[in-house]
Amino acid sequence: RQGVVVITGASSGLGLATAKALAETGKWHVVMACRDFLKAETAAKSAGMAKGSYSIMHLDLASLDSVRQFVHGFRQSGRPLDVLVCNAAIYRPTARTPTYTADGYEMSVGVNHLGHFLLANLLLEDLKKSDYPSRRLIILGSITGNSNTLAGNVPPKAGLGDLRGLAGGLSGMTSSAMIDGGDFDGAKAYKDSKICNMLTMQEFHKRFHEETGITFASLYPGCIATTGLFREHIPLFRLLFPPFQKFITKGFVSEEESGKRLAKVVSDPSLTKSGVYWSWNKDSACFENQLSQEASDSAKAQKLWEISAKLVGLA
Ligand code: NDP
Repeated sequence: RQGVVVITGASSGLGLATAKALAETGKWHVVMACRDFLKAETAAKSAGMAKGSYSIMHLDLASLDSVRQFVHGFRQSGRPLDVLVCNAAIYRPTARTPTYTADGYEMSVGVNHLGHFLLANLLLEDLKKSDYPSRRLIILGSITGNSNTLAGNVPPKAGLGDLRGLAGGLSGMTSSAMIDGGDFDGAKAYKDSKICNMLTMQEFHKRFHEETGITFASLYPGCIATTGLFREHIPLFRLLFPPFQKFITKGFVSEEESGKRLAKVVSDPSLTKSGVYWSWNKDSACFENQLSQEASDSAKAQKLWEISAKLVGLA
């Protein structure tokens, strides 16, 4: 049978390119989990995705209610779940003040981490039930959360500290809106959320891989400098960032190529290893990359899991 993959944030950028790459093979039905139905439908059509190769379901990760409704709706659809890709994200690099999710959590961490944390935990049950030969849960990481890389050392550097802001509820009122309890910084909040994504993948691996056989993986698909992720950045940055990545750092990757990379992590029979953070070298070959000390700190991963579970109502 066809595999069924759910991709969050498939209405643009990497998510859309991956949806297209998988749908084109004819081996996958892609469930595009998106906050804007019309945008997703228009994007799928203009990407040339064949009718019937995908379906669109509403998911707003900035609301835990919406996450629960999505899971309910997905189960009602009667489809099995073979692979879940937690791809959606927001990045607010120039934001001077925090904005908040429906549940009152700072937006970048609320959407990129907490919304996905609840979604992945709830859908784990569905992945367990699937009879597909290789079931996978994939969470997008990033080089910017990895302080063992050049890009990870561009200020403001990511850092979760002792998680006191998160434990306090990231509310900006009774606690800081930042995980480490510091002053709000939009760029750092995104990087912090990506560390959370990488730690979450490892904690899933530790807790569930042996028992379930599910593959848990993260990846850095390369710098896709043209996506909407940078939409809130200043115009000069948006103009110069793609050529800078193309010609200076040479880390640039097109949306199409990045989509092929993520599609491989979803479907390639050779990429079944669990607990891995995949990256690609300059020749576009895939390798198991090292995470920074903080992004691979197992005590922090456990603490992050426990606090996050409380914040999303799982504990
Ligand atoms: P895009 O901005 O193009 O795509 C992000 C997607 O997330 C969009 O579809 C957006 O929906 C969706 N989204 C945002 N907020 C929500 C929400 N509240 N609920 C549901 N969906 C939401 O960015 P990219 O394609 O570049 O990023 C995709 C992933 O890749 C991210 O996890 C990012 O961290 C990661 N990544 C990107 C890199 C890059 O260089 N671009 C590098 C490394 C990692 P909408 O279309 O409605 O806005």
